Amino acid sequence: METITTDIAIVGAGGAGLRAAIAVAEADPSLSIALISKVYPMRSHTVAAEGGAAGVIKSDDKIEYHFHDTVAGGDWLTDQDAVEVFVNTIPKELTRLEHWGCPWSREASGKVAVRPFGGMKVMRTWFAADKTGFHILHTLFQTSIKYPSIKRFDEYYSTDLMVENGRCTGVTAIEMRTGIMKLFNAKAVIICSGGGGKVFPFSTNGSIKTGDGMAMAYRAGVPLKDMEFVQYHPTGLPITGILLTEGCRGEGAYLVNKDGYRYLQDYDLGKPEPTPRLKSMELGPRDRLSQCFWQEQRKGRTIKTPHGDMVHLDLRHLGEKKLNERLPMVLDLCRSYIGVDPVTQLVPIRPVVHYMMGGIHTDINAATPIKGLYAAGECACVSINGANRLGSNSLGELLVFGAIAGRNAVEYIKGEGRDLNAAGTTKLAADAKARVDAIFTKTSGTESVSGLRKEMNTTLEDGAGIYRTEAELKVACDKIDGIRARYSQVSVKDKSSVFNTDLIYTLELGSMLDVAQTIAHGALQRKESRGSHQRLDYPKRDDVNFLKHTMTHYTGGATPRIDYLDVKITTSQPAERIYGRDE
Ligand SMILES: Cc1cc2nc3c(=O)[nH]c(=O)nc-3n(C[C@H](O)[C@H](O)[C@H](O)COP(=O)(O)OP(=O)(O)OC[C@H]3O[C@@H](n4cnc5c(N)ncnc54)[C@H](O)[C@@H]3O)c2cc1C
Repeated sequence: METITTDIAIVGAGGAGLRAAIAVAEADPSLSIALISKVYPMRSHTVAAEGGAAGVIKSDDKIEYHFHDTVAGGDWLTDQDAVEVFVNTIPKELTRLEHWGCPWSREASGKVAVRPFGGMKVMRTWFAADKTGFHILHTLFQTSIKYPSIKRFDEYYSTDLMVENGRCTGVTAIEMRTGIMKLFNAKAVIICSGGGGKVFPFSTNGSIKTGDGMAMAYRAGVPLKDMEFVQYHPTGLPITGILLTEGCRGEGAYLVNKDGYRYLQDYDLGKPEPTPRLKSMELGPRDRLSQCFWQEQRKGRTIKTPHGDMVHLDLRHLGEKKLNERLPMVLDLCRSYIGVDPVTQLVPIRPVVHYMMGGIHTDINAATPIKGLYAAGECACVSINGANRLGSNSLGELLVFGAIAGRNAVEYIKGEGRDLNAAGTTKLAADAKARVDAIFTKTSGTESVSGLRKEMNTTLEDGAGIYRTEAELKVACDKIDGIRARYSQVSVKDKSSVFNTDLIYTLELGSMLDVAQTIAHGALQRKESRGSHQRLDYPKRDDVNFLKHTMTHYTGGATPRIDYLDVKITTSQPAERIYGRDE
């Protein structure tokens, strides 16, 4: 097999991957970096982020406030030592982006502007109109180009990690243009492969978000942490699931039911006030707002449409001028995709799967339990998001922990990870190739990728959606286990080698089934309600038994093994999550 020898291989060229690559290049320009991505970097999902990135900058704000909002927002499942690193570092990272050319929106005075975001006590979300992700990714991409040590491998699909004696020494990837598998023999590997929202049928996520990196790490022996915590965003457009940013509500939009009533006032989230109050009503956290939709639906107060039940987002009172200035892409999306003009019309929306709080288990150094293997960004769980991520914390997370992963990988390969294990890695790569070849060459499969994928999607939506029960979760687990077993009966119809999407979709389905299984089994075992994980049969948070991270381990068998890890608490003892009234 063709071998590309490199000091550090990075899987993923989104925000986290690019930030990690730049950190490595800055720390030591002599190190070679292979940046592997299944799409061209600017097509990574980070480009789709709209609303902004939170970081303390204004005089009415404090690092402690950001810390507290994040920990409480995560329903105390966050590791507080990681949150401390995050809130302390992010203002510097956002300022660095400014110096690299990120065009942050400005106040009239010329200072960086901030907007309110859900669950945040004060306005602290930096933004670039409603195209923040585009501008961040562009800034990182253009900065990365100036480092000759970063060598890009665009449109390479990574399949397996090479792990021997508890140490990671590389990764295999298929060059999609030729169909040839190559080995990246590296001293350290950083996974920055993003989330896996596509395991659900209705999602804001780009179609590339299939949890590949999570599944690769899981199969290689790294536990996936807190996978049952899946975030629904309250405002997705019908049919496509395209996101309308939380920035809409940040700018003052209302959520109204079929009677035009601002229903959030009925759910202990505060009362309507002339000036929207932070942490109140529409500026409550995403888990609560999505759960309120479900409650309204049960009360028969949502709007029936051919595309499911909806409520309305009302932006009309904000006026055309402000909408054009602050939310131009939202106007575009509504007009183009559903033919609705938010300046004069109500916009139908419903909750949509958006983000995974769980992911590859890492410590505060972005290190996994496997030596030489690091992870950062949405694929990782460090964990700063706990049971519910606050909007605008993810872009910050990928900057802070992407950079940390890069720097720590450099430290590692200057010490313990100095040698390249070539011989053992070649053997492992041959095993990886044999695994993929077996899938590719199979001719007599009885199952289709699209059929199994659809079943997986609906099973998760039905059994592991916004509200969950033991009975429904048991059904979901059994079904997903069964679908995963049937995966061995899938055959790839297209036997050509150039850009074989049939093969890639089949491999992606394999990743998604591993991820789906960890979500369903984790949710079944967590007999409490916390953040985005709501059990109708266990409606209360249970700190005695479940103030713990779920650790899901790959067994090679039909089902995963689950155990638990204590949450790290530094200064904030678990308390009631309060929104819309005084704490
Ligand atoms: C519509 C939308 C709006 C959002 N808005 C905001 C916001 O305003 N603020 C906020 O904080 N967060 C927001 N988020 C969340 C945030 O954007 C993401 O969590 C974050 O950008 C993820 O970045 P990442 O670098 O971890 O992964 P991504 O940007 O998803 O990049 C993943 C990379 O991994 C590569 N990859 C994956 N699998 C493989 C494989 N098998 N082989 C090779 N390469 C692979 C991909 O090619 C890609 O380059 C939003 C998310 C969405 C979907």
